[in-house]
Amino acid sequence: HAQFPSITKEVASRTPPYAKLLDNLSKVKKITNNSPLTLAEKILYSHLCDPEESIISSKLEDIRGLQYLKLNPDRVAMQDASAQMTLLQFMTTGLAQTAVPASIHCDHLIVGKEGESKDLKSSITTNKEVFDFLQSCGKKYGIQFWGPGSGIIHQIVLENFSAPGLMMLGTDSHTPNAGGLGAIAIGVGGADAVDALTGTPWELKAPKILGVKLTGQLSGWSSPKDVITKLAGILTVRGGTGYIVEYFGEGVSTLSCTGMATICNMGAEIGATTSTFPYQEAHKLYLQATGRGSVAEHADVAQNQYGFLKPDEGAQYDKVIEINLSELEPHVNGPFTPDLSTPISEFGQRSLQEDWPQKISAGLIGSCTNSSYQDMTRAADLVTQASKAGLKPRIPFFVTPGSEQIRATLERDGLVKTFTENGGIVLANACGPCIGQWDREDISKSSSQTNSIFTSFNRNFRARNDGNRNTMNFLTSPEMVTAMIYSGDAQFNPITDSIKLENGKEFKFNPPKGQDLPSRGFEHGRNKFYPEQDLTPQKDVQVEVSPESDRLQLLEPFKPWNGQELKTNVLMKVEGKCTTDHISAAGAWLKYKGHLENISYNTLIGAQNKETGEVNKAYDLDGTAFTIPELMFKWKQDQRPWTVVAEHNYGEGSAREHAALSPRFLGGQILLVKSFARIHETNLKKQGMLPLTFANEADYDKIASGDVLETVGLIDLVAKGGNNGGELDIKITKPSGDSFVIKANHTMSKDQIEFFKAGSAINYIGNLRRA
Ligand code: SF4
Repeated sequence: HAQFPSITKEVASRTPPYAKLLDNLSKVKKITNNSPLTLAEKILYSHLCDPEESIISSKLEDIRGLQYLKLNPDRVAMQDASAQMTLLQFMTTGLAQTAVPASIHCDHLIVGKEGESKDLKSSITTNKEVFDFLQSCGKKYGIQFWGPGSGIIHQIVLENFSAPGLMMLGTDSHTPNAGGLGAIAIGVGGADAVDALTGTPWELKAPKILGVKLTGQLSGWSSPKDVITKLAGILTVRGGTGYIVEYFGEGVSTLSCTGMATICNMGAEIGATTSTFPYQEAHKLYLQATGRGSVAEHADVAQNQYGFLKPDEGAQYDKVIEINLSELEPHVNGPFTPDLSTPISEFGQRSLQEDWPQKISAGLIGSCTNSSYQDMTRAADLVTQASKAGLKPRIPFFVTPGSEQIRATLERDGLVKTFTENGGIVLANACGPCIGQWDREDISKSSSQTNSIFTSFNRNFRARNDGNRNTMNFLTSPEMVTAMIYSGDAQFNPITDSIKLENGKEFKFNPPKGQDLPSRGFEHGRNKFYPEQDLTPQKDVQVEVSPESDRLQLLEPFKPWNGQELKTNVLMKVEGKCTTDHISAAGAWLKYKGHLENISYNTLIGAQNKETGEVNKAYDLDGTAFTIPELMFKWKQDQRPWTVVAEHNYGEGSAREHAALSPRFLGGQILLVKSFARIHETNLKKQGMLPLTFANEADYDKIASGDVLETVGLIDLVAKGGNNGGELDIKITKPSGDSFVIKANHTMSKDQIEFFKAGSAINYIGNLRRA
């Protein structure tokens, strides 16, 4: 048994249970004949509920990408928008407290408009009912509640909870941010989070491991953001699907901990399960700077005595990509997809070729992706250089700090003043413009004119920031965004070009300089933004949900499977990219996250109809046109179950479980697509839907809306209890009566078949608890 220094209960809740993990890992090592493991495998497999039951092969290659693992995550984090449905689902299980430490973060529901004090006040008024609900759940079940203004979930997790070797789940797709501190942190839907919250083993198909070898060292204008914008260009939004990205190589030790977090954060954009880094000196320094020296002591023992926090010598990756940091150029990714990657030296020319707007309309820095001390000091350095030369920003400039701690530190060190005195607007410590909560006054939401913005955010799907489908969001580093606000011109390359000053002289930026960590340590900030420390569950607290509320609605369990083959009509065929933003739009809809019926009016409103080219249009069997959700509500009422047919990577983007809950609520039974994004496919299974992929992609063209689509052999498949996937026949009957059979694939495990039978994963867990 491994020996670690003793710690208090409070610190223990923030320290991975290294001794237990090492015990588990030794069992895995025995089964796999001591084969060298990657770091990702070590962390993941050490969190297995029962290695002897889970690891059924001694060969690692027979595990990766093939076996389902039953895991015990160490903690759960939830953001306000997704926490509502997670907690509504948790409540239906009847448990008195959560099985693992958990936290709630109020960040997504806060609007960005005029600056912190006004925006926060109005957002708290607008969302009071929801914040009160979340706070009362926190009290009742012993979950730490971080209120509005405290910061963005991933920044707070990095500052407080992430640790080398930790395994956690978060109800947000950028949860992998915590991998910057050597954790395995996975973005999931609420139903998955409920597994961890109820102590039910959480199931994951063992990911393959993609090694990214970093060599050289960043310098000048290049930043950690460029590692991931470059990688997104190489791998595309689907390239990381089914993989954990593990960074290695001598370049790793040259990065800051927060830089590694930026890289892991945006690993979500390549579809990766998560990303992680081996334990470094930078991790230790960050843990110490954020008041967690004792966690670092434990991590030191775990690594120095047991070699737990780095890959084993000779560990094999399924794929390796190499990036030389010394040669890395700043990249600009977009518009509308995070993998359209252009080096800054080619951006001007490409923008002309592609007819992108030449005038940039705003610059935004910060967010969970890029609001570290390093990012902000480098950005502020550029602002100072420009200010000294007498330059003023030519376009609006917004700064979103990731947490109260980072904001207070920036304020103490004069950076807030640097930004605000030079035209910057410092928004609340919240998501704001990153998630459609940008109440933008200069350009209307419905403007048909394209406009472009430069942001240091991570995601750039249409309408994501200001609700305007014609806003082109170009993702880049905070340094690039900051330099661009002084030119406002797509042709400007701050590395090589100058800006003409009023006195006729030319001004050229020097490469930005910053500091990884504040020399005077982090500032705590205002106490009102910190959670209560006593997490004893208070069972007498009433969690109020008014039946009249349009924001919150208690859940009715979905009906169990009736034991018959499924017979559905094809409601529509979706064309092209269909992200969770298309399936369950955010922005104004975020308001209804806790009210399943109301939010379902947004279902697939962003989807394009393959047969007509229209967005948000579907046709009833008699040819009457409806919006997509209207037709779904009608068919639900008519008791006509339906299927939606779609193309590749269906459901990419956020871990938004409403994208699965709403279709299920509206009577959807099958999603038949060319391929799924991982989280969304799991979410569909958890809600009792049947997600299928075409065995032969060309069959997509043979199906039309209105066709009858039936399963053939589902009863058999369920009786066999699933086998981690398999084939299923699908019979298509045309309105003429002609019919044919195609083949589809499913990836359901034994447990997922049980979810399907019970009507949802929550029903299944509830049944187990009652049994
Ligand atoms: Fe918030 Fe944007 Fe980060 Fe999501 S990606 S947590 S919306 S700041």
